[in-house]
Amino acid sequence: MEINAVNHIKDVAIYLRKSRGQEEDLDKHREELVELCEKNGWRYVEYGEIGSSQKLMDRPELSRLLKDIQEDMYDAVVVMDKDRLSREGVGQAQINKILAENDCLIVTPTRVYDLTNESDMMVSEFEDLMARFEYRAIVKRLKRGKRRGAKQGKWTNGTPPIPYIYNPKFRDKTDKSIEKGEDLDSLIVDEEKLEIYRFIVDSFLNGMSPYTIAWELNKRKIASPRGSTWNNTGIRRLLKDETHLGRIIANKTTGSKKRLSTGRLDYKVNKREDWIIVENCHKAVKTKEEHEKILIEMQKRKRDSYATTGENALSGLIVCSKCGATMAQKKSKIESERYSYVEACKNFLEDGITKCDNHGGSTMYLMKEIERQLVMYRDDIEKENERVSKGGGLTKTIESEKKKKEERIIELEDELEQVTTLALAKFFTPEEAVQQKKKILDNISKLESELYALNLQTDNLGNMTRSEKVNAINKFLEVMDMPHISNSDLNRLYKTIIHSIIWDKSNPDELKVTINFL
Ligand SMILES: [Zn+2]
Repeated sequence: MEINAVNHIKDVAIYLRKSRGQEEDLDKHREELVELCEKNGWRYVEYGEIGSSQKLMDRPELSRLLKDIQEDMYDAVVVMDKDRLSREGVGQAQINKILAENDCLIVTPTRVYDLTNESDMMVSEFEDLMARFEYRAIVKRLKRGKRRGAKQGKWTNGTPPIPYIYNPKFRDKTDKSIEKGEDLDSLIVDEEKLEIYRFIVDSFLNGMSPYTIAWELNKRKIASPRGSTWNNTGIRRLLKDETHLGRIIANKTTGSKKRLSTGRLDYKVNKREDWIIVENCHKAVKTKEEHEKILIEMQKRKRDSYATTGENALSGLIVCSKCGATMAQKKSKIESERYSYVEACKNFLEDGITKCDNHGGSTMYLMKEIERQLVMYRDDIEKENERVSKGGGLTKTIESEKKKKEERIIELEDELEQVTTLALAKFFTPEEAVQQKKKILDNISKLESELYALNLQTDNLGNMTRSEKVNAINKFLEVMDMPHISNSDLNRLYKTIIHSIIWDKSNPDELKVTINFL
C-alpha cells in the first residue's frame, strides 16, 4: 500500500501561547504554523491565548480547544512545541488522554507526536508515524461519518458495491497496533462478483448502454445486489463508483434525504474538495484510465441521447391527427414523473393562414392505453399464429438506412484522416484542424447513436419470431414499471415497439388515439 500520509490530516487546530517567562513574538509563531498548515493543505482554526495574563491557571483557549477536540473536530493540534499544550492544575497526562482518545496528533514544525501509542509517544519519524496514522484516520472518519449519519437517520451500515464485501477480519483490528497487510483492508473482492463487475465495465467500454447491460444481466438470470432485477440507474451508479479505484470516500453528502418539518430537503452533496478521499484502502478493480473513459463516455452518450431521443417517454412519437405534424411535449414539472403534456397543435395548415386546432393534454391516460393495447397486441399474436408479421417491410427500410449511415461513418473517418494530413502539410493551422476534427467527430458520434437506435429496433421486434415478440413485449411491460428507468431510456424503448401514435383531440373533452405498433 502506498501512502500519501499528509493527505490524511485535514482539519487541524493551531494553538498559540507564550511559554513561561519568555519574551516571544507570537506573530512570528503564528506565521510559521500557518505556513506549515498551508504547505500541507490542512484546514486550520486558530486558538490563541492573547491576554497578557501571566496567570497560567487561566487558559480559556486551551479549555475551548480541548472541548473541541472531544467533539472530534480535529485530526491534529499544531503547536510550536509540545510543552505549549499544558496548563497548570491540569496534568499533562489528562491532556494526553484527551488527545489519544480522539485520535488527535500533535504536530510541531519538526515533529509529530502520536499519543495513542505510549511507548512511541515521544518521537517518531514523520513518515512512519503518519503511515500508521492513516489507517486510524480512515476508521475514525468512517466512524465520524456514521456517528453524524446516525444522528440524522442517514448512513447506517451501507452494503459495499459489488464485487466488494466486508472483510470480516477488519473490524477486530480497527484501532491500536495496526500493521500493514491484507487483513487491514475493510473491503475485499468476491471473485464471482468480480466477473459480473468486469462484464459490466467491459461491455460499457465496448459501447453497450447501461440499459442493455441491465437487460443482458437479467436475461442471464443474474440477481442484482439487492436480489432483484438490474436497472439502468444501478448500472450507471456502479460504473461511476470510485470505490472500485481502491478509494474510500467520506463526507460526500450532508444532511438526510428526509424532508424537514418545513418541507425543505436537508440534503446536499458536498463540494468535491470537501470530500475525504482516502486512496489505496483496498484492491482496485478498475484502472484510473478506465474510470476516466467511463466518465467521458457517459458525458458523450448523454449528449447524444438528447439528440436522438427526447426527454419525455413519448418524445417524437405523437403525431397530430389533423395535420400530421409531430406534436411538441412539455416535461412534467415533477422530475420523476413519467407523464408529459402534449401541447396544442398550432401548426399552419396547407393554406398557410389557418392554424391547426387539435387540443393538447396529459399523456397519463395515453401511457395506460399503450399498455392496454400492447397486452391486446401480444394476445393477438399469441392467438393468431398465422398472422403475417408486419415487421418485414419495415425491417427492410431500417436495414437500408443502417447501411447508409454505416457508409457515411466510414466516409467521415476518412475525412478525419485527411484533416491530419492537411494539417501536417500546413494547409490547416492547428486550431483549424482541431475545429474540423471536432466537427467530424460530433457527426460520427451522432450517426453512431442513430445507428444504435436503429439496431435496437431491428434487434428487438423486426426480426423476431412471434414467440420472441411475445417475450419482448412481456419484458417491455415489466421494464416499463421499473421505478428507476429514465425517461429517455423509456423513450428509446417505446421506439422499439411503437411506430407512431395518432393524437386526435378535436373535441377537447375526448381523446382518441391510434397506436401504430412496429
Ligand atoms: Zn395539427
